[in-house]
Amino acid sequence: MKYTIDEHGYYGKFGGAYIPELLYPNIKELEDNYIRIIESESFKSEFKELLKDYVGRPSPLTYAKRLSEKYNTHIYLKREDVNHTGSHKINNTIGQILLAKALGKKRIIAETGAGQHGVATATVCALMGMQCTVHMGETDVKRQMPNVLRMKMLGATVVPAMSGNRTLKDAGNEAFRDWINNPTETHYLLGSVVGPHPYPDMVARFQAVISEEIQWQLQEKTGNTLPNYVIACIGGGSNAMGAFYHFLEHESVQLIAVEAAGLGVNSGETAASIAKGSIGVIQGAKTMLMQTNDGQIIEPYSISAGLDYPGIGPAHAHFHDIGRTTVLNATDHEALQAAFELTRLEGIIPAIESAHALAALPKIQFTKNDIVVVNISGRGDKDMDTYIANMDTYC
Ligand SMILES: *Cc1c(COP(=O)(O)O)cnc(C)c1O
Repeated sequence: MKYTIDEHGYYGKFGGAYIPELLYPNIKELEDNYIRIIESESFKSEFKELLKDYVGRPSPLTYAKRLSEKYNTHIYLKREDVNHTGSHKINNTIGQILLAKALGKKRIIAETGAGQHGVATATVCALMGMQCTVHMGETDVKRQMPNVLRMKMLGATVVPAMSGNRTLKDAGNEAFRDWINNPTETHYLLGSVVGPHPYPDMVARFQAVISEEIQWQLQEKTGNTLPNYVIACIGGGSNAMGAFYHFLEHESVQLIAVEAAGLGVNSGETAASIAKGSIGVIQGAKTMLMQTNDGQIIEPYSISAGLDYPGIGPAHAHFHDIGRTTVLNATDHEALQAAFELTRLEGIIPAIESAHALAALPKIQFTKNDIVVVNISGRGDKDMDTYIANMDTYC
């Protein structure tokens, strides 16, 4: 029970479902059915087959020889970057689209910030012939046009959210509003281990395939299923949750979560929700978030759109609270350095989010025999504009 939800949907003092009454029937339907569906043999076999034949799993576990030499230890990279659509997000969208089908839903809605989750959702909707509406802040629609066009090409309707700062949080609010107005035929496909119970637990189960694979891949390569360290970046926390999941009970494995510090945790321009946050409620869950003294959410900043979120999944707030994880942070500058380093040493251009996890390497004192796994949550194609703008400084 220490690392999973209790019967009320809480991880320790974090989690729960703080939702408007009008949303209660939707959440209740999910809560009453998700375990039964996910655990059924037909679901499990279809999920497994799509992950294999459509996503391309298992994703490789690559021994990073030159990076290991540099840090004088043994570093393995879990390659979520090679998945179809370029990140771990597809694991969750495949899981939820199958769940929606099993619940008899006809329409999918989602929220997206940079558009990565929107694209992964539009992808599985095309695959399953489901209607798809993606809510996206109007500011983000303007800055993330290639992803908006991808979603359109995939057949999704992109609805610009016009409230608040017109970014991710506002898109989330609009998605909830849409769901309240369309309760019976619509499933809300949330993109991370955030939101009201049962989403954090449900998304964790879909992403758990990452650590399930790491275990047997390490066994093959090292003769042992357990590493000394697992390192992952956290925005909402889904790729980290997937990479940690099967190691949570093994206390010898050190779990390192890396937040985006932006220009620095004390600069006022940051997305480090644990370092700079306090307990509050965001998107229906009690967790750590960046807020003013009177509870207004502080707009986050990070060079990485995927980590640019003012809160964090309740499980991660709990793991940090009880000391199961070590939470570090990396600035824009450190992440850029790490991205160029991986590219030049291993020939892998990582997503700028994943580069935050890599930026933890120089901050940890490894020994020569340590086995270190870094989760490469996604590939860097989408970040080429950012990398090109910084090429002269970092190459
Ligand atoms: C969205 C995204 C993230 C952040 O989301 P989590 O839920 O924290 O995993 C990290 N990496 C990539 C490549 C992403 O697209």
